[in-house]
Amino acid sequence: MFSCEDVRAALSNYLDGDVSPDLRRELERHLSECRTCQVLYDTTRKTLHIVTNVGSFDIPEAVSEQLVKRIMSRLTLPPSAPPSHS
Ligand SMILES: [Zn+2]
Repeated sequence: MFSCEDVRAALSNYLDGDVSPDLRRELERHLSECRTCQVLYDTTRKTLHIVTNVGSFDIPEAVSEQLVKRIMSRLTLPPSAPPSHS
């Protein structure tokens, strides 16, 4: 069974199409059931799409991985405490 951490670890490879059919199936099953990972996947995919279309330069794999990591760390930050009404 795939955990959210497994999805995060494999997501950049998945977006690159660089996963085995078994792994892809597990990922897609988790994505269909996990809202958090759906958002993560969608955000990462869109960001990569935007970035890769902004300029004519190629983005090295390491950079896109950094990008994914940055997005993931933002999504996994603990939610800030709601403002208290006094
Ligand atoms: Zn998940």
